[in-house]
Amino acid sequence: MTSLVFNGEAFLPGKIVCVGRNYVDHIKELGNDMPDDMVVFCKPNTAVSDSLLAEQDEPLHYEAELCFLVSDDDLTGVGIGLDLTKRNLQNELKKKGLPWERAKAFDGAATFSYFVPVPEDLSKLTFTLHIDNELMQQGDPSLMIYSPETILLELSRFMTLNDDDIIMTGTPKGVGTVKEGSQFVGRVYYDHELLIEHTWIGQ
Ligand code: MG
Repeated sequence: MTSLVFNGEAFLPGKIVCVGRNYVDHIKELGNDMPDDMVVFCKPNTAVSDSLLAEQDEPLHYEAELCFLVSDDDLTGVGIGLDLTKRNLQNELKKKGLPWERAKAFDGAATFSYFVPVPEDLSKLTFTLHIDNELMQQGDPSLMIYSPETILLELSRFMTLNDDDIIMTGTPKGVGTVKEGSQFVGRVYYDHELLIEHTWIGQ
């Protein structure tokens, strides 16, 4: 299993809990309906990879997301992650009203930067994704329908969160396919100061 790093120390991630449709612009971009309730799905920890795959049966779509590490029922670490998606298959599954695991939970369906301790005011976090030096995605809690704190509360109503579980908070507009050889750089800022920078190369 792929380990991750929090505050300089390796850990094995637990389950990955993902929020879907959390940014209005992304909902419009994919032509989805506005959700009545928070959209939630999970990836198993076997989905976590160090590598950014460009293809797995079909071309993969990237979704850059602000991610949180859970411990003691709280958000204790922050990082940036890519929710990799088989978009064609997901669209087929959606049409049939079937679960998304085949399109979202496969080996290699999630990759993360290192995590650092959460700063005091989560509303001052922002993140960007550049592909080959071009800004493709940017997001922050002010653009989210459900803030990180609200996500934690809502999840806790029906699901136990264990230490080392990870929450992915949804993606803003600008998703697209991963190209082999492309350089992906994810950055997280706190109050405009760089907190995290991580590079992946599409493989
Ligand atoms: Mg996503």
